[in-house]
Parts: sequence; structure tokens; C-alpha cells
Amino acid sequence: MNRIIYLNGEFCSETDAKISIFDRSFLFSDSVYEVTTVLNGKMIDFDNHMKRLDRSMSELKFSKMLDHELIKKFHKDLILKNNLKEGIIYLHVSRGVADRSFNFPPKETDLTVVAFSQEKNLIENKESKNGISIMTLEDKRWKRCDIKTTQLLYPSFAKAEAYEKGFDDAWMLRDGYISEGTSNNAWIIKSGKILTRQADDLILNGITRQSVINCAKILGYNISYKGFTLTDAISADEAFITSATTFVTPVVNINGKKISTGKPGEFTGKLREEYIKNSLKTAI
Ligand code: PMP
Repeated sequence: MNRIIYLNGEFCSETDAKISIFDRSFLFSDSVYEVTTVLNGKMIDFDNHMKRLDRSMSELKFSKMLDHELIKKFHKDLILKNNLKEGIIYLHVSRGVADRSFNFPPKETDLTVVAFSQEKNLIENKESKNGISIMTLEDKRWKRCDIKTTQLLYPSFAKAEAYEKGFDDAWMLRDGYISEGTSNNAWIIKSGKILTRQADDLILNGITRQSVINCAKILGYNISYKGFTLTDAISADEAFITSATTFVTPVVNINGKKISTGKPGEFTGKLREEYIKNSLKTAI
């Protein structure tokens, strides 16, 4: 594949793109990102991704902000130039290029902005049909998981650990409660109620999570944000994950124990359908 990518105001082939070795992203993971879903060549929840991007950048005290209309334009251009029908646009913004120093660079330093497309079957895939298996491990990330930084080593470690042990993914535990997945938010359904964790500093407030909360309300489900333990999860009626690339995907097995019958749950399926229907309606 030779994609056309976006780098600092210009489009070029992915093989020609070059970034300085002094980029803060390379030296300090001093960068934030967003992943916007594309379905039928249109973007899902773009404005909410931009709001979260602004929040991540201001929490990290980036000295400049980016114009949403400009970002929208190069996202749309990438979709067209790469003939993307289903997949994602990945956007990465770093604090820029500066001599290596733990201190932040001068305020006038230009940000580095990169975006590229990636094709992926998001609607039809075996995970959404059959469900996925999860293992749990301790959440050892820093305590600002609400900021979408590219400092993703621990989640990457956790996912690799899960794969090595024969699971599809991992959920992380903090103080006995499930915080979230390596790259998704975690949910269970128990006695007709949907449970998830409150969105504070210890999880990423997923854009899909916020959309799914709306879908759950449309479908008349009650949601509790008090969180849940591993014991709650294993004895749940249904479990699922949400993210921009998995939408609503059933979890059928945790640490080798079946959730209910070990088949994807009925309400999970309805939520997924509602989420896809609403997303297609509001896509731009
Ligand atoms: N939590 C974490 C840790 C994530 O990395 C992600 C996806 N990047 C999510 C939750 C889901 O967020 P979204 O729905 O915006 O994709």
C-alpha cells in the first residue's frame, strides 16, 4: 500500500514523509492523537473528536490550538485521495521540534501535525459476530488517562500479554474495579442495568462511549456509572467494549470464564445496531 498522507500542511506519499529525530513526539511521546471512524466514505462524530483533541492539547499546555475547519478539510481530502470507504483517519499532533530538553520548547515552536488513513472492516467482522475474550491485569498507567496521549506503551504491553496468553484483549483493574480496556471502554449488563465507570482522570472518555450512552437512553436502558469489579463482570448477563474502531463489540469470556452462555448478548447486539444506525445518520 502506498497511501497519500498529510504532514504539516502538505500531502505526500507515505514513503516520502519525513519527521525530524528531534520531534518531541519521538523523544518524549509529547503528542496527542485522535482516531475518527469512516463509514461509506463519511466521518463519524468528527466534532466530538475535535472537542476532545482541544481538551487533550490544553491539558498538556500546548501553546497553540488547531483550526477544526482546517482539520476537517484535510481529513476529507485524505478520504478522497485514498478512496477510503471504511476505516479510520488517524490524527497525531506533537509539541514540535526542539533541542532535547525536559522543559517545554519556546511558545512559538510549530506543532507537528500528521494524519493518515487506514482501511478496516468495521461493520462486518468476526469479533462483532462471535464476541471476544478478555484477560485482566493491573492498571499500571499514569493517573491522567483522560488525556489522549501517544504514550501507549503500557496498553500495548497489556494487549501483547493478552495475545500471548491466547486472549483477544485485556481489561485493566485499579483498586479492584475494572477501569477500561487497552484501547476501549469496558461495560457490563447485569439485571437489566448497564454498568460502566465514571469518566474521570483514570479513563479516556470515549467518543463512542458518549454516543452509546445516548443510544442506551433511546433504547430505554438504565445506566449506572458506579463501576464494576471483576466478580461483577464474571457474573454479568452480558459484557462489551466500545471504541471508534470496535463500535459495540461483545465480550463473551473473561479470564477463561464464560459470560452467561458464552454467546454475544442480545442487548449488546441491539446497542451495536442502534449505534451504527445513528452514526450513519449523522456522518459527514
Ligand atoms: N479507552 C482507551 C484507553 C482508548 O485508547 C480508547 C480508544 N482510543 C477508548 C477508551 C475509546 O475511545 P473512542 O470511543 O473515542 O475510540
